[in-house]
Amino acid sequence: MSIKSRITIAYARTKLSSRKVAEGVENPLHDWVELKVRNTFKQDPEFRKALGRSSLDEIDRKVFEEYQLYRFRKQLAYVMQNSYYYQKKYGEAGVVPEAIRTMDDLNKVPLTEPDDLAEEPFLFLCQSQSKIARTFSTSGTSGKNKRLFYTRDDLLNIIDSIAAALRSAGLLSNETLHIMFPAVVAWDPSLMLEGACKVAGLKSVVCSEVDVDEQMRVMKENQARVIIGLTSFIYRITILAREKYDLRSLGVKAIICSSEPLSEAVRREMEGAWGCKCLSQYGMTEMGLATTIECQEQAGLHINEADFMVEVIDPDTGKRLPPGKEGELVWTSLSFQGSPLLRYRSYDISHYIEPPCKCGHSTVGKIGKPKGRRDSATKIGLGKHIFPVLFDEAIMNVRGVLNYQLVLDKPSFRDRLHFTVEFNGDIEQGKVNVLEAILALEEIKSGLDNDLLDPIEVEMKEVSNDFTPKMKPIVDKRRRYDS
Ligand SMILES: [Zn+2]
Repeated sequence: MSIKSRITIAYARTKLSSRKVAEGVENPLHDWVELKVRNTFKQDPEFRKALGRSSLDEIDRKVFEEYQLYRFRKQLAYVMQNSYYYQKKYGEAGVVPEAIRTMDDLNKVPLTEPDDLAEEPFLFLCQSQSKIARTFSTSGTSGKNKRLFYTRDDLLNIIDSIAAALRSAGLLSNETLHIMFPAVVAWDPSLMLEGACKVAGLKSVVCSEVDVDEQMRVMKENQARVIIGLTSFIYRITILAREKYDLRSLGVKAIICSSEPLSEAVRREMEGAWGCKCLSQYGMTEMGLATTIECQEQAGLHINEADFMVEVIDPDTGKRLPPGKEGELVWTSLSFQGSPLLRYRSYDISHYIEPPCKCGHSTVGKIGKPKGRRDSATKIGLGKHIFPVLFDEAIMNVRGVLNYQLVLDKPSFRDRLHFTVEFNGDIEQGKVNVLEAILALEEIKSGLDNDLLDPIEVEMKEVSNDFTPKMKPIVDKRRRYDS
């Protein structure tokens, strides 16, 4: 590393709040969020005025909500001044930043659609191009790519969030993070994580090998203590490795499952194999990825509410829903300066969980484990909408299953379900077990009883040498009148 880049990193490090939280505290994420609120209080007279206080002893939920509303107003004024999109959209809607005083007032601010971002990403840009340090692209539903712009401070913010989340999972600065995303992923989260660790002063090693022996060698050699990676990829390595290695003896403290939903069936298998907690992480590229992580309680994912506001809305009316009610997650970036998004629709279904949490968090809330995208729900037979996660729970629960795909068809008046299952072990017995698990699902049972489904087809496939990430769990080939 050159002297110049060393100095740059050393300087960047001084700006990270996560470095200022003492090592070994009970709840690093909690302390980190509080620190950020206190910093704003110290540095920003407007916030002190909004709060009507000259000192800040305790940060309770009320103070925290005031902090969020204050940051929201500030961000709202910022985008209305600097982004063409928001200037026009909010100007026409008559939005006045100062009028947003309660959480209910947020209903006055129109939602941002992902398609608008895909259509005209430059309209969201709030800074001159020379200030942009990095651009991220992510595919949109309309086929066009969404582009996000980040300044140097935005990137530091993302790094800080990542570091805080890793510490919350138990990673100490003298321990190694093992990063495992398959190399075939279109964009590479490994590089970003590795870079973030470098700046934050955490040790990490990247291993994208499909080969189980190689994964084990790298893990042992570097004494990996926390693993982070693509859920299905870690799962695959786990199932294949546990036959040859004593995974519990490796001393891994936690596994963070990223980028894909973590079903309880998969969690159970992995926790049993490694002898440690398996934590789910959920984030959106549009929000810089590191937005939520599960705590040791495993009852919802804590949100980095110092930098993001999460709301749950009724997807049909667009109105805010109270905590506990299931709906669509809507995100606001409270900190980004490059192209911050306000009240951005995720189309992901979940619910909000208010603090406190048994882990000790008293200020920030959680979201329930996201069920999947609203448009990933499928109707089978005459049943109600079901999410792929339903089949995950049933099929991944069968010992030996590595992955599966369901193809839906309608050759006659009945729906036909064809499952292809990648399996390790006795194929014949595996097939019997998989079929049994599927037939036990209430939705399938009633479909068959009412003659709305063809007999369920299960095709078993032996373990292959390559790994296809995000194998679409459900492919729907049925013709519909509305498509
Ligand atoms: Zn918690």
